[in-house]
Amino acid sequence: MTREEKILLKESMKEEIKKLSSDLVDIRSKIYPDKEQDRCDKTAHLTQKLNQSVLFKQYQECVNRLNRLNSAILKVDTEDYGICQECEEPIPIERLKLLPESIYCVNCLQELSGL
Ligand SMILES: [Zn+2]
Repeated sequence: MTREEKILLKESMKEEIKKLSSDLVDIRSKIYPDKEQDRCDKTAHLTQKLNQSVLFKQYQECVNRLNRLNSAILKVDTEDYGICQECEEPIPIERLKLLPESIYCVNCLQELSGL
């Protein structure tokens, strides 16, 4: 991987982290709405409960990805970055552009997740 590619990846990771951080704020405000008027409405309350479990899942996924990106951005300047942790082959740049936090190549990921 060239230096330029690393710089580009770092920039796209920063963008992604910014976006995810604002998503988190957004989801959080949906999970804890400050509207009090729905309180007496049972159906609305139930719908909100249902939405909440979906939102919690989204929230968790967002946090997980943010964590992965934050650790990837710290690693991007090291030699380990972009190397598959399983087969130790370089991860294709095209994959890193899509998922810069990747620590496995596609083959190893599929094997590890049992596909
Ligand atoms: Zn691999």
